[in-house]
Amino acid sequence: MQKTIQSDKLGEECGIFGGRVNIKETSEPIVQFLRDGLLKLQHRGQESAGISVGDANQRLYKAVGLVKEVLEDNNIQNIKGNLGIGHVRYSTQGGSEVINAQPHLIECMGCQVSIAHNGNIKNSQKIKKELLRMGEIFKSTSDSEVLLKKIAFDMNKSPELWSFEEIGKSLDDNFSLGAFSIVLYLPNRILAFRDPCGYRPLMFCEATEGCFIASEDVAFSGLESIKIEEIKAGWGVEITDKGYEIKQYSELINEQKCVFETIYFANPASNIFGSNVYKSRIELGKILAKRDIESALDADIVVPVMDSGFSSAIGYAKESGIPFEIGLSRNDYQGRSFIQPTQEARFEVVRKKLSPIKSVVEGKKIILVDDSIVRGTTATEIIRMLRRVGAKEIHFRLASPMIKESCFWGVDIPTTEELLANNCKSEEDVAKYINADSVRYLSFEDLSEFFGKQDWCYKCFGCKCEEKREESNIIKCEQHTKIHTKVQALV
Ligand code: AMP
Repeated sequence: MQKTIQSDKLGEECGIFGGRVNIKETSEPIVQFLRDGLLKLQHRGQESAGISVGDANQRLYKAVGLVKEVLEDNNIQNIKGNLGIGHVRYSTQGGSEVINAQPHLIECMGCQVSIAHNGNIKNSQKIKKELLRMGEIFKSTSDSEVLLKKIAFDMNKSPELWSFEEIGKSLDDNFSLGAFSIVLYLPNRILAFRDPCGYRPLMFCEATEGCFIASEDVAFSGLESIKIEEIKAGWGVEITDKGYEIKQYSELINEQKCVFETIYFANPASNIFGSNVYKSRIELGKILAKRDIESALDADIVVPVMDSGFSSAIGYAKESGIPFEIGLSRNDYQGRSFIQPTQEARFEVVRKKLSPIKSVVEGKKIILVDDSIVRGTTATEIIRMLRRVGAKEIHFRLASPMIKESCFWGVDIPTTEELLANNCKSEEDVAKYINADSVRYLSFEDLSEFFGKQDWCYKCFGCKCEEKREESNIIKCEQHTKIHTKVQALV
């Protein structure tokens, strides 16, 4: 039976933005900043976009589509207010209708509260059932609405009185093993929280124009920033008309930063988890090259898979001294291959998206670099194209280890049966499958050596620490030496 897209996917990746403009310094309403910030976060989600905006009263605007369509000039020119939050969403096709678009807004005791969330709440169904039993009604199938309604339920008083500390306690009591970076818009205040595992990034910016929160600091690049700071795991921010405060709300810190953010998801200009994304990818490319230099692999050019392999291919070329060439051109107007329902449809999108440059690749021995293989669609189709225009040899290099597991925490990775790693156990098997002359992944040892053995989530690469964390009170993974004693109380 053909799988539906819904069963094919887990979780969702998203981008969040929010803040308060300083009306003494700028005459521009917050909506302009929300639009510009969300445009810079568009890579984190292309299915829907939305904002909740105002002063004491909030108005919600959201729709399926890109930021430039949903928040086009005509739609936003009359929107006033100096407080607001926004969201871009990447979901499964089945879940992309407007009802699941964010922010979610509720009326609670005469006040309004809205949320924009990036991450995935593993126990959301359980909490939703409890809330349904107590008479709560849900408009969407999104776990972000569960998060908001549970906080509202726990507060049980006027949102005007909701404090950073009380909301932090509710998050800590109910969701501390979930993945969330959230911004909340309450009457006259913006609050933001990053989960105690710190799966997803969260950045703060104090600027001349105001104070802002975003998934990645690339969203602040149009601002006159005074200070940019990463919000630590278990910490948050409160922004009011008096200024801002960055505060800790949870002591159960058990860092599990998603390494896939740096490998693939984030913008190269961003600085997340303490490092610049572009520079990290360059280094991963250099590590890949070192292994080939040791085995004296001989090639004519290094070609990136556009755009995901771009930075690592530069790193590979720098380290190896082999010339870097654009051997594939990318059509920016073509949709994503990743979420298509069938393998044939995914091949079709890759064919439309990428075109080989014959004059560059013909007769050449090529090092082809990408960040990751998931199902193997992109690699198989690109190699077919390159061979058709006369590439002599193709050596495929991946700036990450083999993806072996799907992700609970918000990165869209299909079920394990669909992953290429399920069919191919070795680099040789993969080479045969995608018809490359050779394949090399970055080894898990090299990856965890580069990023650090502790404080990162490596579950998609087969690291078992996550299951062990749930099975027992003391978690010790073969690859991780840290004993996560602090979560004991929660499991
Ligand atoms: P595949 O074609 O299924 O092997 O997927 C690998 C390609 O998709 C690579 O070019 C990656 O950059 C990209 N990719 C990896 N992970 C994701 C993801 N979660 N969502 C969308 N694209 C991805």
